[in-house]
Amino acid sequence: MNSSLCRLCDAKSQQVIYEGPIRSGGVGSGFVDGYKICKCQDCGLVSLAPLPDNLAEFYESEQYRQQFFEEIDVASMQQKYDVEQNIRVRRIGIQTVRGKVIADYGAGAGLFLDAIQSVAKKTIAIEPSRLYQKYFQARGHIFYSYAQELLDAGEKLDVAVSFDTIEHVLDLKDFVRQIYEALQDDGIFYLSMPNYDDIVRALYLQAFEPFFFQVSHLNYFTGKAAALLLEKVGFRSISVGYIHKYNLNNLLQWMKNGKPGAFDTSGVLDDHFQTIYVEEIERLGIASHIFITAKK
Ligand SMILES: [Zn+2]
Repeated sequence: MNSSLCRLCDAKSQQVIYEGPIRSGGVGSGFVDGYKICKCQDCGLVSLAPLPDNLAEFYESEQYRQQFFEEIDVASMQQKYDVEQNIRVRRIGIQTVRGKVIADYGAGAGLFLDAIQSVAKKTIAIEPSRLYQKYFQARGHIFYSYAQELLDAGEKLDVAVSFDTIEHVLDLKDFVRQIYEALQDDGIFYLSMPNYDDIVRALYLQAFEPFFFQVSHLNYFTGKAAALLLEKVGFRSISVGYIHKYNLNNLLQWMKNGKPGAFDTSGVLDDHFQTIYVEEIERLGIASHIFITAKK
């Protein structure tokens, strides 16, 4: 593949929008040089260049989890990320998954599947990392390392989800096409990823960009580019929504200290204020994450 072609729309016009240090791993890791960030002038997809070698092997390894997530054991993943499942379950709704066959592409430690397992008919994890397979087995989740294996097994899905995974994927259209193929007609797909139009990036570009761009994220999406990707593969009824994972404290921390961390507003701002803040950020489309719903 010619790396100068856009991996979403095949256009040739790529503009370098950032050149400088980017994050080498998870929060708290160092920064590395030698990468550029390019934006497609046609569709707006933003991508990393050059792309790392041997991606599949890397994603299957423990080294990947250690480098990018710090915690690798299930218990600490649960402690850190269970709270994010509340928002996902609320957005999707119990009624959408009850009695249904559902697969999570890039399931990680299976936290979302755990949350809906009691009402779903069948829960399937697609996860290349070998670390969690024993856990999936113990929990009763069906699992496959790759999407093609699910297709080969003849699974038919009512609901597919993929949270914060597609930013790591090299062949975008192939990834979405495999999900499309696995869905029944009228099946629903929920897709989320970091938002390029994040409020912190918009307001505080200089400090935020070296942190926002990272070696493991090959793609950065606007809502429009993400919707175009689904449309190209054949999805319909595409609805772009947003999820903001942080409250105002996060923005204040960035503006005051120029790095991630805790900023204390207790005694001044209350939960009600923070809830309204998050809702407004999501309404404006400047949230930390994009959350798309589409139908086959
Ligand atoms: Zn493009």
